[in-house]
Amino acid sequence: MPDISAPNLAARPLAGRYALVTGATRGIGQATALALAEAGAHVIAIGRTSGALEELDDAIVQLGSTATLVPLDLKDSPAIDRLGGAIYERFGRLDIFIGNAGVLGPMTPLAQVEPKEWDDALAVNLTANWRLVRSLDPLLRVSTAGRAVLISSGAAHKARAFWGTYAITKAGLEMLARTWANEVANISNLRVNVLNPGPTRTRMRAKAFPGEDPDTLPAPEDIAAAIVGLCLPDFDETGKLYDFPSRTLKAFPVPA
Ligand code: NAP
Repeated sequence: MPDISAPNLAARPLAGRYALVTGATRGIGQATALALAEAGAHVIAIGRTSGALEELDDAIVQLGSTATLVPLDLKDSPAIDRLGGAIYERFGRLDIFIGNAGVLGPMTPLAQVEPKEWDDALAVNLTANWRLVRSLDPLLRVSTAGRAVLISSGAAHKARAFWGTYAITKAGLEMLARTWANEVANISNLRVNVLNPGPTRTRMRAKAFPGEDPDTLPAPEDIAAAIVGLCLPDFDETGKLYDFPSRTLKAFPVPA
């Protein structure tokens, strides 16, 4: 098996491949978009913040690759439905899908969560990824080595007080990934895996742990390299969880 955590990006192992990244405007998604570009992929970058997408485009060009910018709110399900058709018309296929965008949601006892907060977290963290699966699955199956990586969290395997909304979305996301992996394994070259970044130096982490020193945490670039490792054509595992903190690929169910 190739070294997942430190692929050789400079060898441009993803040249000629099309890679879609959600939440590409900052944090882990932005770092992943840049790492995929460095590895040679054309990046289809999704997020709501247009200025950040433009800056990403400039950085990708500096790396010698190209990007397509898609300013999109992932709560806009019809727009997600249109995305697959637009990518098909322009590129004819998709090789890589990184379902990274996420929100922390309310850090509140379940009994006190406001319905809108619940709906918003479910919409971005779970429903949007299912809508993306519907929209992108046919394009990924056409690829000679389709790869999907859905970004989860260690919270999916705990039942920590006040983290319920977020944990429930991530537990659902993992079941989405595992089920999809089983559905496509024998009929296509599409491989679907989950990655748990662990604590990472981003805005989301700072929101959850405002008193923490960010310099004690791994950088998004460290996680991004591992995500690219799961996207390489010679990475053939499917339905697994790559746990970045322990650098191990785990089968489900994941031991506590
Ligand atoms: P972040 O810095 O807050 O970035 C979140 C990204 O999601 C942004 O690019 C944001 O873009 C996008 N996003 C949020 N809502 C959106 C919406 N409605 N439509 C489109 N895009 C939306 O978070 P991060 O820490 O990099 O997190 C990335 C992933 O890692 C998440 O799934 C998170 O749950 C997971 N994770 C993070 C940690 C950690 O310690 N950081 C740990 C475990 C798991 P716009 O605001 O521009 O739309």
